[in-house]
Amino acid sequence: MSRKEQFNLKNEKISELKKLSDIRTEKAYSILKNGKPEIINEQEFLVPASNSNYKFKVTHRDAWTCECLDFQKTCKDKGLYCKHIKAIQFFLKLRNKTEIDNILDENPEKECIYCKSKNIIKRGIRKSKKGDLQRYYCKDCKKRFILNPIKYIKIDAQNICLELWIYISKGYH
Ligand SMILES: [Zn+2]
Ligand SMILES: [Zn+2]
Repeated sequence: MSRKEQFNLKNEKISELKKLSDIRTEKAYSILKNGKPEIINEQEFLVPASNSNYKFKVTHRDAWTCECLDFQKTCKDKGLYCKHIKAIQFFLKLRNKTEIDNILDENPEKECIYCKSKNIIKRGIRKSKKGDLQRYYCKDCKKRFILNPIKYIKIDAQNICLELWIYISKGYH
């Protein structure tokens, strides 16, 4: 086989893999449209099957794995993710994205960490290793502070509008 032939064969394989991956991406979107994944813990998730009440278990330890046949028989060897794994990946990305948006968004529940006044405004940004943090200023006690996102944001990922997920997660790759 010539170099050019080898090169073409490699490219064909790559585009075939991309096609297989894209199909599963589309399927992952429709999973998220039709049902909600369950988070068992940081590493284990349940994804509803499209045509039954069964739930596939997706695990993320050193690598992503899924118990479905597609993953076990096809994806695993090719280095692809099945639709269930992709669905969880979008789900998690979206959850993070929503958390970030909530930190940056004006939210009526935010209050001064010193005097609990809701009379606060955004003022300036503090650079940090984890990214830019919004600084707030309390008009009542005249103190400046940064809201701790963990304390102030209680996200129930299950309640995020599914259409919104799809919309946001499509912007992600
Ligand atoms: Zn799967
Ligand atoms: Zn205050």
